[in-house]
Amino acid sequence: MAHRRPVYLPHPPVPARARYRVAMPTDALLVWSEDLVSYDFGVGHPMTPVRLRLTHDLLADLGVLTWPGLRVLPAPVADDEDLLLVHTEDYVADVRAAEADGLPRPERGIGDGDTPVFGHLHSASARIVGSTVTAAREVWEGRAARAVSIAGGMHHAMPGRASGFCVYNDVAVAIAWLLDHGARKVAYVDLDAHHGDGVERTFWDDPRVLTISVHQHPGSLFPGTGYAQDTGSPQARGTAVNVALPEGTAGPAWLRAVEAVAEPLVREFEPDVLVSQHGCDCHGSDPLAGLDVSVDAQRAAALLLADLAERHAGGRWVATGGGGYEVVGVVPRAWSHLVAVVAGQPLDPGTPVPASWRARVEDLTGEGSPAMMSDGDEVRLRPFAEGFNPDDPVDRAIMATRQAVFPWHGLDPITS
Ligand SMILES: [Zn+2]
Repeated sequence: MAHRRPVYLPHPPVPARARYRVAMPTDALLVWSEDLVSYDFGVGHPMTPVRLRLTHDLLADLGVLTWPGLRVLPAPVADDEDLLLVHTEDYVADVRAAEADGLPRPERGIGDGDTPVFGHLHSASARIVGSTVTAAREVWEGRAARAVSIAGGMHHAMPGRASGFCVYNDVAVAIAWLLDHGARKVAYVDLDAHHGDGVERTFWDDPRVLTISVHQHPGSLFPGTGYAQDTGSPQARGTAVNVALPEGTAGPAWLRAVEAVAEPLVREFEPDVLVSQHGCDCHGSDPLAGLDVSVDAQRAAALLLADLAERHAGGRWVATGGGGYEVVGVVPRAWSHLVAVVAGQPLDPGTPVPASWRARVEDLTGEGSPAMMSDGDEVRLRPFAEGFNPDDPVDRAIMATRQAVFPWHGLDPITS
């Protein structure tokens, strides 16, 4: 077995700034507007905008928002020219009409239980697209090396249909925007518990976009797609990649799956930009999904992607949020770590959660909140290429994906 240097050891924490290229004062970008919280399906819907508000407040209380290496830009409402890079004209017209008349459009997936009509349906959804396109544009035009759109990651939306809380697919539009503005190849890594079906479908026939989704097995979770053997259309074979993990997969095994697939494929693909979706509903306490990943493992995955972007995508990285329905205990911590990693200054997992934030949460929700930025999971990466267990269900899932895809890239499923 060839010896290989592990690409990332999550503990002890990576020294801040050491792994990334020297940060200029405006090297990293967070896209944020107060208006992003108007993406609100109403009382009782799991995708409550309080998750964004609490994340923003935690970032503020941690001091991250005033770091000199992190610039903050507002999110504009995307114009039709950008929306139509992915969505059909008829669909955009119908979303606008639903915003105006408040009536459901069942044939468009609008108004069903998952994605109900609300007052700002078009404008709030298009602002999320504007957020992620801003992140992509700033990176592509060289004003930021890395950028994060925490409101983004609406990966289920299809070109002509809303799905799974997602109206417009900001991630797909941002990738299409990059291609439209000269990027030759874009790699996309989706860490949400659910399959990134809308992004995959958008680029199913396009060999310029590598989509990698690591998710809970479709047999036990929405949207019921994303099997290892789904690898893209004949003209783009091997550029759709799916890892279908067993229910209950824990942080270290999940991180191992991310590394086992994303590292060799992104290395081989050599994209101009890495785009990633950090849905944190893979956390063990998320009410809508059944994986068992810790905030520590999610942080480790963000570091792994930062490292991949640095080594194989010219340092260009566009990160988004995504799903995440444990809105007090998980989302704010997970995405604060993400923003800090994007800013090139990863937070030590041993950082206490600021008392000011905890007090505000208690006022707002009546709930307690975590005391630390860590779940206490000392997740360590065991690289797959150093050996695997054919009887282990996670290793079998990883191997199924590597066997289905790696040969299309000239990679060996066992040793790469
Ligand atoms: Zn999800």
